[in-house]
Amino acid sequence: MNLTQVIKKQARSLGFSLVGVTGCDPVPHVEVFQAWLAQGRCGEMAYLNSERSRQMRAHPGLLLPGCRSILVLATRYLTPSPLHLGAGPNHQLHGRIAAYAWGEDYHEVLPGRLRALVEYIEGQVGHAVPNRCYTDTGPILERELAQRAGLGWIGKNTSLISPSGGSYYLLAEVLLGLELEPDPPVVADRCGTCQRCVAACPTACILPDRTLDARRCISYLTIELKGSIPPELRTTIQGWVFGCDVCQQVCPWNRFAAGEESPLFDHRLADSSPDLLTELGLSNVAFNRKYRHSPLSRTKRRGYLRNISVALGNLRDNGAVPALTEVIMHEPEALVRSHAAWALGRIRTQASEQALKQALDREADVLVISEIHSALESIVPNSNNR
Ligand code: SF4
Repeated sequence: MNLTQVIKKQARSLGFSLVGVTGCDPVPHVEVFQAWLAQGRCGEMAYLNSERSRQMRAHPGLLLPGCRSILVLATRYLTPSPLHLGAGPNHQLHGRIAAYAWGEDYHEVLPGRLRALVEYIEGQVGHAVPNRCYTDTGPILERELAQRAGLGWIGKNTSLISPSGGSYYLLAEVLLGLELEPDPPVVADRCGTCQRCVAACPTACILPDRTLDARRCISYLTIELKGSIPPELRTTIQGWVFGCDVCQQVCPWNRFAAGEESPLFDHRLADSSPDLLTELGLSNVAFNRKYRHSPLSRTKRRGYLRNISVALGNLRDNGAVPALTEVIMHEPEALVRSHAAWALGRIRTQASEQALKQALDREADVLVISEIHSALESIVPNSNNR
């Protein structure tokens, strides 16, 4: 085996499911990314649009002076069961969490493995090798590099799809000041005439140029967006409380995908269908204890409880009124109170109307007051739920 083959073998033994090599040349199709930014489709993710970020993403060689090769690695994560849209599997007051977030935070898990791989490479060549490692953390167009390294193609749902393993992968890169043998890029588009992900997306955020309008994507709305979720998009989120898997669950390339899930994600930190009322009662301390090492920590408690409130509003179950009333009366975060008000307006019972009126008497935050007024206006007098 030559050096490249030996390194790939070691990468697999460290738990990376797919590994390929590409060069540091400018990334192809970068103009699509630039147009996406120019149209404002990145939402609040302004860090993507800085001059430095755009330059780095277009020219990966700028990330590491003397870069000669890029190792692109993919780790398979736990796979959700086939798509069932709507409420959770056992009980209607359960939400849904995207599969990549069920286990430990990959930002904590993967860097150690990347460091171990670099140490192995340095051991093989007998000297230090300039390197830079990324896993969803740097100004680098991961999927474009993965396609060029022969791992798969970028599907209409914007995921990197491996012909043998589907799309449930986390990507990582190691830039090296070391010449390795590049893999041939994947040039075939195996989506063909399929449009399943486009048709299934709950918010219609998938665009024809293989980008997403992030401002409508459930993953963005429930994770990246820090403030209020636009009212006109809340019902489209259905029961998702952290991320979304719909465009991957409907993809035929995931139906028969082969591949081992990484044992590093065996330790479950988040329930795939969490009990919404239990989660709504999480204190700051309890949230931090439960999700400290989970991707869910990214939203912080306030973002997560905002999402839980929206899911409860979408499920419209009377049984959620006492918990939502408790939130709207006593929750310190205005963001959470405002979304609980929306949820109470959606449930539309006498009890929810009463809770909204009581809260209005004591509420001081203008955003929450505005949400309560909107919720009260939405409650029609002859609702069937009364
Ligand atoms: Fe491509 Fe169809 Fe999969 Fe969408 S669902 S990514 S169109 S194969």
